[in-house]
Order: sequence, then structure tokens, then C-alpha cells
Amino acid sequence: MHPSQPDTDMAEPTDPATEAFLRQLTDRFVFVEVVFLRRGDAFELRHVADTDAEAASLTAIDVGDLRALAQTTRDGAFRPNKAAPNLRRGWRCEAPGTARLEAALRHLYPGGLADWAAARTAPPPATHYRETAARQTGLYRITPILPDALAAEATRACCDAGSCLRRRLWTAPGAEADPEAAKSAMPCLEPCALLLDLARRAMKLEQGPKAELQIAEDDLPVLVHALRTALARPDPEVREGDTAAPSNPRRLRLLLEKLGPLMPASAVVEASA
Ligand code: SF4
Repeated sequence: MHPSQPDTDMAEPTDPATEAFLRQLTDRFVFVEVVFLRRGDAFELRHVADTDAEAASLTAIDVGDLRALAQTTRDGAFRPNKAAPNLRRGWRCEAPGTARLEAALRHLYPGGLADWAAARTAPPPATHYRETAARQTGLYRITPILPDALAAEATRACCDAGSCLRRRLWTAPGAEADPEAAKSAMPCLEPCALLLDLARRAMKLEQGPKAELQIAEDDLPVLVHALRTALARPDPEVREGDTAAPSNPRRLRLLLEKLGPLMPASAVVEASA
């Protein structure tokens, strides 16, 4: 670093969002997938699944290393959505002081602190599906014409906790905002590019050729089971944003959305038991 260049990881935080966040930090606080263990003015950060692991079993990393850590999954795939529930495990990071804590949050969850603070205002500044879609041009210019039911299906399929831990505050017709205790304290204030891409894909599928398929009603739960099994065993090769890939989790959920209303009531009860 150039001597005249300020070390942003060391600078004292002046951001009111950070100060508000610090005020509500308890001794053990979970934000998305990271647990903050407070020791006076210092913090230790870990993956929440490693909260009770022996410190010696975890790799000690610096705050500056968190940016690279958050870029890829354990399998090396790029993480376009930093709120996806696939942050790597096996590390711990000392953040001595609030400036380091702020930097750690910035690296792990870019924009998360500002969104968290914005969501504390009443009403939170959410931009809903129809408003966001109306602004789209180019690739996503098709997104305003989604019928309400399709917009809701795409929203549920995209923003499921299996793919994203941001608590959705925006709505689509037929898809209410996530409840307060859902997913995490990091809010989602407007549809992201992954959502718009899935909405575009859903509309293209709606407009595309259809195959006729007559199957026994009793085989519907078999199909649903197969899709859920595929969701439980994610394909490490598929990119999160590649909604053309048959094994993309959002694509699997979109098909599940189509099958749900066709399922006999008894099968729905069995499947959810
Ligand atoms: S739009 Fe959905 S998938 Fe995208 S960040 Fe928000 S909650 Fe997550």
C-alpha cells in the first residue's frame, strides 16, 4: 500500500450504520452465516456452523482475506450472490476493534450493513417487483409482462432460503414479503439480477413450445420427490446464474412451483410431513 493511501480496514468507522449495528451486537451475534463472538472491543468471526469448534481446528485468517474467502464456494465456484448459503467453513478471523469489524462485514456481505440500516427505517425503502421490472431494458425488457402468478412463482423459486439468505422486503403480486424471523437480519430491498434473470427465463418458458404429458396422478409425488432430491444434492458444476442448466436449483424450484397446484391434497400432506 502507498504510504499516503489510507488503510480502509484500519480507519475509524464514521458510518452511522456501523454504529447502529455495534449497539445491538450481543456477545454472540449471528449475521447471515457468520457468528460474531464479542470479547470486549474485539470480535472473532467464524462460520456459524463452526461456532463451537476448537479454535485450533480452524484456520486463522486476516480481515483482508475475507474478501477472497467470500468469492468462491468450497468447490471453487464463483459466488455472485454473497448471501447464498454456501460461505466456506473452517476459518476464524480476529477483528480487533470496530474499524476491522466494519471492514470484515464489507468483505463478507458487500452493501449488507447499509441495507440492514436502511431496513430499520419505517417504512423500509423497498422497490417492488413491478417497479423494478418497469425500469428494465435490453435483456430484461420482457420482465414487466410476466403475469402476476408467474412473477410470484419466479420470486419464490429464486429467493428461497436454499439459494439466498437475504430477507426479502419487496413484494410481487402473490408473493408477500418474508416474515421478520425469516432467513437472516440482512434484508433484500429490491429484486436482484438473479431474480430478473429467472423471471426472464420463466416468461420465455411460458412463451415457448409446450410438450404434452399425460401421467398418473400418483406419479406426481414421484416427480416432486425427484426434484427435491436433486435440490438436496446440488450440482457443483452448475453456475448459480445459469438458469438454462437443468440442474440449476432455481430452475428446479420453478418446476416444483408448476407441479404444486397439480398435486393431490393427500400427497401434499405426505410430502410436507
Ligand atoms: S432478489 Fe431474492 S435472490 Fe436476489 S438478493 Fe433478493 S432475496 Fe436474494
